[in-house]
Order: sequence, then structure tokens, then C-alpha cells
Amino acid sequence: MTTAAHKPRILTGDTPTHTGLHLGHYVGSLENRLRLQDQYDCYFLIANVHAFTTLADKPADVRANTIGIVKDWLAVGLDPDRSTFVLQSEIPAIAELTFLFAMLIPFNKVMRNPTLKTEIETKGLGESYPFGFPMYAVGQCADILAFRPDLVPVGEDQQAHIEMCRDVALKFNQMYCGVGNRVEPQDHQKAGGLFPIPQAKVGRVARLVGLDGVNKMSKSLNNAIFLYDDAKTVQKKLNRITTGRQSPTEPGNPDNILMQYVDAFIGAADPARAAEIRRRYAAGDNIGDGHVKAELGEAVNRLLDPMRARRAELDGPRGDDIALSVIRAGIHKANAVAEETLYRAKQAMKLDFGARALASQGYQSRD
Ligand code: ATP
Ligand code: MG
Repeated sequence: MTTAAHKPRILTGDTPTHTGLHLGHYVGSLENRLRLQDQYDCYFLIANVHAFTTLADKPADVRANTIGIVKDWLAVGLDPDRSTFVLQSEIPAIAELTFLFAMLIPFNKVMRNPTLKTEIETKGLGESYPFGFPMYAVGQCADILAFRPDLVPVGEDQQAHIEMCRDVALKFNQMYCGVGNRVEPQDHQKAGGLFPIPQAKVGRVARLVGLDGVNKMSKSLNNAIFLYDDAKTVQKKLNRITTGRQSPTEPGNPDNILMQYVDAFIGAADPARAAEIRRRYAAGDNIGDGHVKAELGEAVNRLLDPMRARRAELDGPRGDDIALSVIRAGIHKANAVAEETLYRAKQAMKLDFGARALASQGYQSRD
């Protein structure tokens, strides 16, 4: 039988900047998490410390959002009996690793990170963002590497961060574990490296565009359909999309937002119908935007119905307690793995003076 210890690992997660998750999360990452939950030893992290990069003055919101996201995970079907839910603020090894990893990444490289640049622009952070904002990119390397995962299911916007994480792992293994410069990434652990060089796994839709038709769908940009939006809200949000097309007989842009959504939400269950809509739309073959939006509404609502029902139950009287108990249940197991990583990282860096020996905390080495 394959035990968790022998399965390859996944680490991925979400930042609690909103009370729930949206369709972009679903097609970009959640679908993969659901699909891979049995094959991998999965760690799903809520980056609640990183939520303070933009919500430092709203701690109650960050807490409520954290509970909301756990409810959405449960509603979607992530299973805390099979996977470990990890609350970032309860894992001290992540903070320590962040500082150690910060020595391995050139400052200018962090500031040139395209994901950070886009976020600064689209979230209107201007010049006044805190030092912790760019720091979160380094912190994310620690979130990931603390769990020494093989795979990180993410949307396209996170690829620059995963690249940075891979660089940190490569450099750490070379600098402190004696791995040669020519060793291929996949052979690093065989060559004595502490860290696997994790790979990004981008979802079925790498970047779901938001309702504004320009930016990626995002919790923070007011352009999202949330998984818990009711059926009417979903349809209303879809109806507000503008494409500039005037009539059902005008040839439509086959790459516009509506056609992207047709691929994402009709194409998944019925590729032939999606292709038909696409063909008629591009040809101006008597198919109006209103009709497409109505069909999309049905498809999205079919997808969301079961999730919404489960989320509604969790928004009932015992829901917060359930979410909190799931969060608490993950803490020990997550710390066992992260503490072991930190211990071994400190050993490799000649920082092992024994103050936090693993055995004293009841954690066992995985190897
Ligand atoms: P925020 O606006 O606060 O940054 P977000 O909507 O970008 O929130 P995150 O918590 O930053 O959500 O991202 C969680 C995961 O979902 C990441 O793996 C990210 O790549 C993925 N993701 C987020 N938005 C999309 C999208 N529109 N399309 C595909 N994947 C997405
Ligand atoms: Mg984001």
C-alpha cells in the first residue's frame, strides 16, 4: 500500500484577501488539487500572514476570510482527512526559512518579479506598499519549500514566483548541500540536496480573465464570480460583461471574454457545444451575446450548485466551528514536516546548535 510518506508531495494555497474563492481559483488550481488529492500527499496552505501585505489594518477581516476560504475548500471537496490544511501563521519554521532564503535572492531580482509588478499596478498599491509586500515573494518560497513538495498546482500568474522558488532550492542545494552546478534539477535530491526542485502545475485554464475582460479574475479587483455567489448573482454578473458587439449577425471576436468563458465552462462538459457556439459567434451566425451569456449562466450555475449548497451549510450555525477544527487539526502534522525541513536546513547551514532538536518536539524524520 502507498503511504503518505511515500507519495510525492503537493503544496499549494490561497491568500485570505476575501471571504471566498472564485471561478479563476477553480479552473486555475482547485480542479488540479481535487484530481491529485489521492495520488499526492497534499498540503494546502492559507497564507494568512501574507494577507496582511494589503490588509494590515483589517485583522478581523483576515480572520473571517481565513475561515471563509477553509469553508470554500470543504465546499469544493478538498478533504482534510486525505490532505493537510496548513495555516501559515501557525508554522514558525516558515518565518525562519523566509529570513534564511532572503539571503539567497538578489534584492533587484525580487523587485523585478513580474507578478509583483503586475500586482502593484492592478491593486493600485502605488509607492506606499509596505516592505512586507515584496517580502511575500520570498516568504512564498519558504511556504513551498518548508514542505519539500514535488508539485505546486497554481495559476499562470504564480509562475514567476515558482521560478524564484526553484532558484532558491537550486542555490540552497548547491551552496549548502554540495550539489554540483551541472546536476539536473530532477537529480538534486539524489545528489544530496535537501530540497526537491518543485514544478509548477498550471490548471486547465492558466489565467481566467475577470469580468472586466482585461485583468485576471482576482479576489481583490472586484471582477470575480465567487463560488458562493447565488444563481441570480452569477447571471447578473455575466450580463454586465461588455464586448462591444452590436448584433447577433456581427462576426464576434473568437478570443473575447465570452468565448474564453465558453471554453472554460461549457467546453469542459460539452466540447462539441462550445465549438458550435464559437463557430457561429465568429461567423455572426445569428447568435447574440445575450444568448451566450444565458447559456454560460446555466453552465456556471450547474458547476456551482453543489458547492454553493455545501458552503451554505457551512455558513450555518456550526460552520465556523467546523472550519476552525479543521484548521487546528492540520497544525501538528504541518509543523512536523516544516520543523524537520528547518532542522535539516540549519544543519546544512551549520546553524544546528541543538536548541530546537526534532526529537524534543516529538517529530520524526521522514527519511
Ligand atoms: P488576490 O487578488 O488577493 O491576489 P487572487 O484572486 O489572485 O487574490 P490568490 O490567493 O492570490 O488569489 O491565488 C490563489 C491561487 O489561485 C494561485 O495559484 C493563483 O495562481 C490561482 N489563481 C488566482 N486567480 C486566477 C485566475 N484568474 N486564473 C487562474 N488561476 C488563478
Ligand atoms: Mg493573487
